[in-house]
Amino acid sequence: MKVTFWGTRGSTPVPGKDTIIYGGNTTCLEIDLAGGKKVIVDAGTGIRALGSEFDFSDNRLELYLLITHIHWDHVFGFPFFQPIYKSSTKILVDGYSQCMKGLRYSFDNKMGDGFFPIRFEELNADIQFIDKLSNGYLEIDGTIIHAIPLRHPQGGLGFRFREGDKTLVFLTDNELDDDRWAFEGYVGFCERADVLIHDSHYVPEEISKHRGWGHSDYLAAIDLAVKAHVSKLILFHHAPERKDSDVIKMVLDCQELIKEKGTELSIEAAKENSAFEL
Ligand SMILES: [Zn+2]
Ligand SMILES: [Zn+2]
Repeated sequence: MKVTFWGTRGSTPVPGKDTIIYGGNTTCLEIDLAGGKKVIVDAGTGIRALGSEFDFSDNRLELYLLITHIHWDHVFGFPFFQPIYKSSTKILVDGYSQCMKGLRYSFDNKMGDGFFPIRFEELNADIQFIDKLSNGYLEIDGTIIHAIPLRHPQGGLGFRFREGDKTLVFLTDNELDDDRWAFEGYVGFCERADVLIHDSHYVPEEISKHRGWGHSDYLAAIDLAVKAHVSKLILFHHAPERKDSDVIKMVLDCQELIKEKGTELSIEAAKENSAFEL
Protein backbone atom coordinates (compact mmCIF):
# COMPACT_ATOMS: atom_id res chain seq x y z
CA MET A 1 0.00 0.00 0.00
CA LYS A 2 1.02 3.57 -0.60
CA VAL A 3 0.34 6.25 2.02
CA THR A 4 0.24 9.97 1.17
CA PHE A 5 -0.08 12.72 3.78
CA TRP A 6 -2.43 15.54 2.72
CA GLY A 7 -2.79 17.00 6.21
CA THR A 8 -0.63 16.41 9.28
CA ARG A 9 -1.62 19.25 11.59
CA GLY A 10 -3.77 19.10 14.72
CA SER A 11 -6.57 21.36 15.96
CA THR A 12 -6.65 24.05 13.28
CA PRO A 13 -5.07 24.73 9.88
CA VAL A 14 -1.98 26.91 10.09
CA PRO A 15 -0.77 27.88 6.61
CA GLY A 16 2.18 30.26 6.52
CA LYS A 17 5.91 30.70 6.45
CA ASP A 18 6.49 28.61 9.59
CA THR A 19 4.73 25.48 8.32
CA ILE A 20 6.12 25.07 4.82
CA ILE A 21 8.01 21.82 5.48
CA TYR A 22 5.55 19.86 7.63
CA GLY A 23 2.40 21.51 6.33
CA GLY A 24 -0.49 23.54 7.69
CA ASN A 25 -3.50 21.41 6.74
CA THR A 26 -5.36 19.24 9.23
CA THR A 27 -5.65 15.46 9.16
CA CYS A 28 -6.10 13.66 5.85
CA LEU A 29 -4.33 10.55 4.56
CA GLU A 30 -4.70 8.84 1.22
CA ILE A 31 -4.01 5.11 1.22
CA ASP A 32 -3.80 3.33 -2.12
CA LEU A 33 -4.23 -0.39 -1.63
CA ALA A 34 -2.40 -2.97 -3.71
CA GLY A 35 -5.68 -4.12 -5.27
CA GLY A 36 -6.29 -0.63 -6.69
CA LYS A 37 -8.90 0.63 -4.21
CA LYS A 38 -8.43 3.99 -2.52
CA VAL A 39 -8.99 4.70 1.17
CA ILE A 40 -9.03 8.20 2.63
CA VAL A 41 -8.64 8.63 6.37
CA ASP A 42 -10.28 11.75 7.83
CA ALA A 43 -11.60 14.81 6.08
CA GLY A 44 -9.52 17.58 7.60
CA THR A 45 -8.56 20.52 5.40
CA GLY A 46 -5.98 18.39 3.58
CA ILE A 47 -8.82 16.62 1.76
CA ARG A 48 -9.48 19.71 -0.39
CA ALA A 49 -6.23 19.42 -2.34
CA LEU A 50 -6.63 15.65 -2.58
CA GLY A 51 -10.08 16.16 -4.13
CA SER A 52 -8.69 18.28 -6.92
CA GLU A 53 -6.38 15.43 -8.03
CA PHE A 54 -9.13 13.23 -9.43
CA ASP A 55 -9.81 13.02 -13.14
CA PHE A 56 -13.58 13.24 -13.40
CA SER A 57 -13.61 12.38 -17.09
CA ASP A 58 -12.93 8.83 -15.94
CA ASN A 59 -15.73 6.46 -15.20
CA ARG A 60 -17.22 6.02 -11.78
CA LEU A 61 -15.06 6.96 -8.81
CA GLU A 62 -15.37 4.74 -5.74
CA LEU A 63 -13.67 5.70 -2.48
CA TYR A 64 -13.61 4.52 1.09
CA LEU A 65 -13.59 7.29 3.70
CA LEU A 66 -12.68 6.26 7.25
CA ILE A 67 -13.32 8.84 9.96
CA THR A 68 -11.42 8.60 13.27
CA HIS A 69 -13.76 11.02 15.08
CA ILE A 70 -15.72 14.16 14.36
CA HIS A 71 -13.73 16.96 15.98
CA TRP A 72 -13.62 19.88 13.58
CA ASP A 73 -10.04 19.37 12.48
CA HIS A 74 -10.96 15.90 11.15
CA VAL A 75 -14.10 16.76 9.16
CA PHE A 76 -14.19 20.40 8.15
CA GLY A 77 -12.48 19.90 4.80
CA PHE A 78 -15.35 17.69 3.62
CA PRO A 79 -17.52 20.44 2.04
CA PHE A 80 -14.49 21.38 -0.10
CA PHE A 81 -13.85 17.84 -1.39
CA GLN A 82 -14.77 18.07 -5.09
CA PRO A 83 -15.85 14.44 -5.64
CA ILE A 84 -18.91 14.89 -3.40
CA TYR A 85 -20.46 17.18 -6.03
CA LYS A 86 -20.21 14.58 -8.81
CA SER A 87 -22.94 12.00 -9.37
CA SER A 88 -20.29 9.59 -10.64
CA THR A 89 -18.76 9.36 -7.13
CA LYS A 90 -19.57 6.68 -4.60
CA ILE A 91 -18.17 7.13 -1.08
CA LEU A 92 -18.30 4.25 1.39
CA VAL A 93 -17.94 5.75 4.85
CA ASP A 94 -16.85 3.83 7.92
CA GLY A 95 -15.17 4.43 11.25
CA TYR A 96 -16.42 6.29 14.29
CA SER A 97 -20.09 5.63 15.01
CA GLN A 98 -20.99 9.32 14.80
CA CYS A 99 -19.07 9.96 11.59
CA MET A 100 -22.06 10.56 9.31
CA LYS A 101 -23.34 13.15 11.78
CA GLY A 102 -19.96 14.86 11.65
CA LEU A 103 -19.86 14.94 7.86
CA ARG A 104 -23.46 16.17 7.68
CA TYR A 105 -22.93 18.86 10.33
CA SER A 106 -20.04 20.30 8.38
CA PHE A 107 -22.79 21.47 5.96
CA ASP A 108 -25.82 22.07 8.11
CA ASN A 109 -26.64 21.85 11.75
CA LYS A 110 -29.13 23.38 14.10
CA MET A 111 -26.48 25.55 15.72
CA GLY A 112 -25.48 27.43 12.65
CA ASP A 113 -27.87 27.32 9.73
CA GLY A 114 -26.13 29.57 7.22
CA PHE A 115 -22.54 28.41 7.71
CA PHE A 116 -22.44 26.86 4.25
CA PRO A 117 -24.57 27.57 1.16
CA ILE A 118 -25.22 23.93 0.23
CA ARG A 119 -27.10 21.33 2.22
CA PHE A 120 -25.81 17.78 2.70
CA GLU A 121 -28.93 16.42 0.95
CA GLU A 122 -28.03 18.40 -2.16
CA LEU A 123 -24.72 16.58 -2.71
CA ASN A 124 -24.65 14.56 -5.93
CA ALA A 125 -22.36 11.77 -4.77
CA ASP A 126 -23.71 8.49 -3.43
CA ILE A 127 -22.51 8.56 0.20
CA GLN A 128 -23.19 5.46 2.30
CA PHE A 129 -22.28 4.52 5.85
CA ILE A 130 -21.22 0.87 5.70
CA ASP A 131 -20.58 0.45 9.46
CA LYS A 132 -18.27 -2.57 9.33
CA LEU A 133 -15.50 -1.42 11.66
CA SER A 134 -17.53 -1.10 14.84
CA ASN A 135 -18.88 -4.61 14.27
CA GLY A 136 -15.62 -6.42 13.52
CA TYR A 137 -13.47 -5.52 10.56
CA LEU A 138 -13.55 -4.13 7.06
CA GLU A 139 -12.05 -6.12 4.20
CA ILE A 140 -11.19 -4.41 0.91
CA ASP A 141 -9.74 -6.71 -1.76
CA GLY A 142 -7.87 -8.79 0.80
CA THR A 143 -6.66 -5.84 2.92
CA ILE A 144 -8.04 -6.25 6.43
CA ILE A 145 -8.75 -3.16 8.51
CA HIS A 146 -9.39 -3.34 12.25
CA ALA A 147 -10.27 -0.54 14.65
CA ILE A 148 -9.50 0.26 18.29
CA PRO A 149 -11.09 2.91 20.54
CA LEU A 150 -9.02 6.05 21.10
CA ARG A 151 -8.48 7.69 24.46
CA HIS A 152 -9.82 11.07 23.47
CA PRO A 153 -12.66 13.39 24.58
CA GLN A 154 -15.92 12.14 22.95
CA GLY A 155 -14.05 9.04 21.76
CA GLY A 156 -12.86 7.94 18.36
CA LEU A 157 -11.24 5.06 16.52
CA GLY A 158 -7.72 4.19 15.41
CA PHE A 159 -7.11 1.86 12.46
CA ARG A 160 -4.78 -1.01 11.57
CA PHE A 161 -4.31 -2.01 7.93
CA ARG A 162 -2.98 -5.46 7.16
CA GLU A 163 -2.07 -6.15 3.52
CA GLY A 164 -0.11 -9.33 2.82
CA ASP A 165 2.70 -9.33 5.37
CA LYS A 166 2.67 -5.53 5.83
CA THR A 167 1.00 -3.68 8.70
CA LEU A 168 0.23 0.02 9.06
CA VAL A 169 -1.32 1.48 12.23
CA PHE A 170 -2.83 4.96 12.44
CA LEU A 171 -3.57 6.31 15.92
CA THR A 172 -4.17 10.03 16.08
CA ASP A 173 -5.87 12.03 18.82
CA ASN A 174 -4.90 9.37 21.33
CA GLU A 175 -3.68 9.94 24.88
CA LEU A 176 -1.27 7.33 26.16
CA ASP A 177 -1.22 7.82 29.91
CA ASP A 178 -0.61 5.79 33.05
CA ASP A 179 -3.43 3.35 32.40
CA ARG A 180 -1.35 0.20 31.84
CA TRP A 181 -4.36 -1.88 30.86
CA ALA A 182 -5.19 0.51 28.01
CA PHE A 183 -1.52 0.82 27.08
CA GLU A 184 -1.15 -2.95 26.76
CA GLY A 185 -4.19 -2.95 24.48
CA TYR A 186 -2.42 -0.51 22.15
CA VAL A 187 0.78 -2.57 22.33
CA GLY A 188 -1.19 -5.61 21.13
CA PHE A 189 -2.88 -3.58 18.38
CA CYS A 190 0.47 -2.21 17.11
CA GLU A 191 2.49 -5.42 17.58
CA ARG A 192 5.22 -5.69 14.92
CA ALA A 193 3.68 -3.00 12.71
CA ASP A 194 5.94 -1.89 9.89
CA VAL A 195 4.75 1.68 10.38
CA LEU A 196 2.95 3.30 13.31
CA ILE A 197 1.64 6.82 12.74
CA HIS A 198 0.88 8.22 16.21
CA ASP A 199 -0.31 11.43 17.81
CA SER A 200 2.56 13.45 19.26
CA HIS A 201 0.77 16.75 19.69
CA TYR A 202 2.83 17.62 22.74
CA VAL A 203 6.48 17.69 23.73
CA PRO A 204 7.35 16.29 27.18
CA GLU A 205 7.54 19.75 28.83
CA GLU A 206 3.91 20.45 27.86
CA ILE A 207 2.13 17.20 28.65
CA SER A 208 1.57 17.61 32.41
CA LYS A 209 -0.57 20.72 31.83
CA HIS A 210 -2.68 18.92 29.24
CA ARG A 211 -3.56 15.61 30.86
CA GLY A 212 -7.05 14.55 29.82
CA TRP A 213 -6.96 16.59 26.60
CA GLY A 214 -6.66 13.41 24.54
CA HIS A 215 -3.18 13.74 23.06
CA SER A 216 0.27 12.26 23.66
CA ASP A 217 3.83 13.50 23.74
CA TYR A 218 6.58 11.85 21.71
CA LEU A 219 7.95 10.00 24.74
CA ALA A 220 4.71 8.05 25.07
CA ALA A 221 4.57 7.40 21.33
CA ILE A 222 8.14 6.07 21.37
CA ASP A 223 7.40 3.94 24.43
CA LEU A 224 4.46 2.34 22.60
CA ALA A 225 6.45 1.84 19.38
CA VAL A 226 9.36 0.19 21.21
CA LYS A 227 7.18 -2.09 23.34
CA ALA A 228 5.19 -3.15 20.28
CA HIS A 229 8.36 -3.83 18.22
CA VAL A 230 7.32 -1.36 15.54
CA SER A 231 9.83 -0.74 12.74
CA LYS A 232 9.06 2.89 12.02
CA LEU A 233 7.25 5.56 14.05
CA ILE A 234 5.87 8.63 12.29
CA LEU A 235 4.94 11.51 14.61
CA PHE A 236 1.60 13.08 13.69
CA HIS A 237 -0.97 15.77 14.62
CA HIS A 238 1.61 18.52 15.02
CA ALA A 239 0.41 21.26 17.36
CA PRO A 240 -0.60 24.43 15.49
CA GLU A 241 2.06 26.49 17.28
CA ARG A 242 4.82 24.00 16.39
CA LYS A 243 6.95 25.68 13.71
CA ASP A 244 8.97 23.70 11.16
CA SER A 245 12.11 24.39 13.19
CA ASP A 246 10.39 23.02 16.32
CA VAL A 247 9.35 19.82 14.52
CA ILE A 248 12.89 19.35 13.23
CA LYS A 249 14.20 19.72 16.78
CA MET A 250 11.56 17.28 18.07
CA VAL A 251 12.69 14.63 15.57
CA LEU A 252 16.37 15.16 16.47
CA ASP A 253 15.52 14.83 20.17
CA CYS A 254 13.64 11.61 19.42
CA GLN A 255 16.51 10.18 17.41
CA GLU A 256 18.92 10.95 20.25
CA LEU A 257 16.59 9.18 22.65
CA ILE A 258 16.34 6.15 20.39
CA LYS A 259 20.12 5.96 20.21
CA GLU A 260 20.32 6.01 24.03
CA LYS A 261 17.74 3.24 24.23
CA GLY A 262 19.74 1.20 21.74
CA THR A 263 16.70 0.18 19.72
CA GLU A 264 16.32 -0.17 15.97
CA LEU A 265 13.21 2.02 15.79
CA SER A 266 13.28 4.51 12.94
CA ILE A 267 11.50 7.79 13.61
CA GLU A 268 10.35 10.79 11.61
CA ALA A 269 7.60 13.42 11.58
CA ALA A 270 4.74 13.36 9.09
CA LYS A 271 5.18 15.86 6.24
CA GLU A 272 2.29 17.14 4.17
CA ASN A 273 2.59 16.03 0.51
CA SER A 274 5.05 13.26 1.35
CA ALA A 275 4.35 9.60 0.62
CA PHE A 276 5.77 6.19 1.43
CA GLU A 277 5.12 2.62 0.38
CA LEU A 278 5.02 -0.51 2.45
ZN1 LIG B 1 -7.38 16.36 16.04
ZN1 LIG C 1 -9.77 15.28 18.36
